[in-house]
Amino acid sequence: MRKPQSAQIRRITKRLLLYAMRTAGVFAMARRLSRRRLRILCYHGFSIGDQHEYAPIMFMRPAVFARRLALLKRLNYVVLPLAEALEKLHRGDINRGEVVITIDDGWKSTLTLAAPLLLEHAMPACLYLTTYHVERAEVVTDVVIEYMFWRTARTTLSVRGIAADLDGDFAIPGNERALAARWAGFGNKQCDAAGRQKLVRTLAALLDLDYDTVTRNRRFALIDAADVAELQRCGVDIQLHTHTHTFPSSDQSAAAEEILQNRRVLERIGAGRATHFCYPSGRYAPQHPEWLAALGIESAMTCDVGSNHSGHSPFLLKRYLDRDDAREIEFEAELSGVSDLLRSLRGTIGRPPETPK
Ligand SMILES: [Zn+2]
Repeated sequence: MRKPQSAQIRRITKRLLLYAMRTAGVFAMARRLSRRRLRILCYHGFSIGDQHEYAPIMFMRPAVFARRLALLKRLNYVVLPLAEALEKLHRGDINRGEVVITIDDGWKSTLTLAAPLLLEHAMPACLYLTTYHVERAEVVTDVVIEYMFWRTARTTLSVRGIAADLDGDFAIPGNERALAARWAGFGNKQCDAAGRQKLVRTLAALLDLDYDTVTRNRRFALIDAADVAELQRCGVDIQLHTHTHTFPSSDQSAAAEEILQNRRVLERIGAGRATHFCYPSGRYAPQHPEWLAALGIESAMTCDVGSNHSGHSPFLLKRYLDRDDAREIEFEAELSGVSDLLRSLRGTIGRPPETPK
């Protein structure tokens, strides 16, 4: 889908402004001024084939990730393990604009594409792993359904004899997300794990897509238990992200169970005792920090954009959500503190925030 022209012009203008600021020494100045703030970067999956075109915030091409790591090295940023960085932050010892790399969800490509690059650059990372799919070794149906509605060349979908909720004739262009939500919702409410996989195969056929091509290289699956040791060998520490990627805000015991079950699975698969948490999709409520503290959680990561100072709540940590289509100058602006500065001057600059999976 083409981006509206005004949005494109805004992005180009923003980039030109950033280049001018870097040339004028503003990046270097901002970096000095913000040297006591901890930067935390956020990634999700890594792209195989066209995944980065479908969801640039969720799937980054490994070549782009490699350039990010190289830039961190070239600009002499110190990348620390999460726990060490948070201890420093708590003590007020962040003084070089240190960086933490976090990766959410646990897509298989974290192991196959990102971990070797982290190892090559000797940079640690924290993986927030949601465990429901890890135990079942199945594709993440919500995401693969949305991808297939994006990928199909069909303009109409005709469904007969599957279920009253799904049957009918539908125009696809412009309705991709709504149709995907309908199919994913049906799968989650009406099917067990095997039924959901069957539903996705049925949908692939209806959309004229080859299911095995869509899901090749396990590109819509998460890691499995056997991958944990290899990730750890590459310097990836594994932490909490709930069991089913939901964290209720009205039921404390259900929220606690999400974490306890997540923690039990992590221990069972050899990831160790996890005490750091990331809110699924970055959504949190005012009561969550207290609930997390009661469970022995030491920190919680949001998707709020920004860097962190020593007085910041460890349960509301901010990050920069890097994305495949962000230019290097934009990434560098975030690292330097310039983007924080611009946001505080003007409110959020650039595109409106998106909610990742
Ligand atoms: Zn997530």
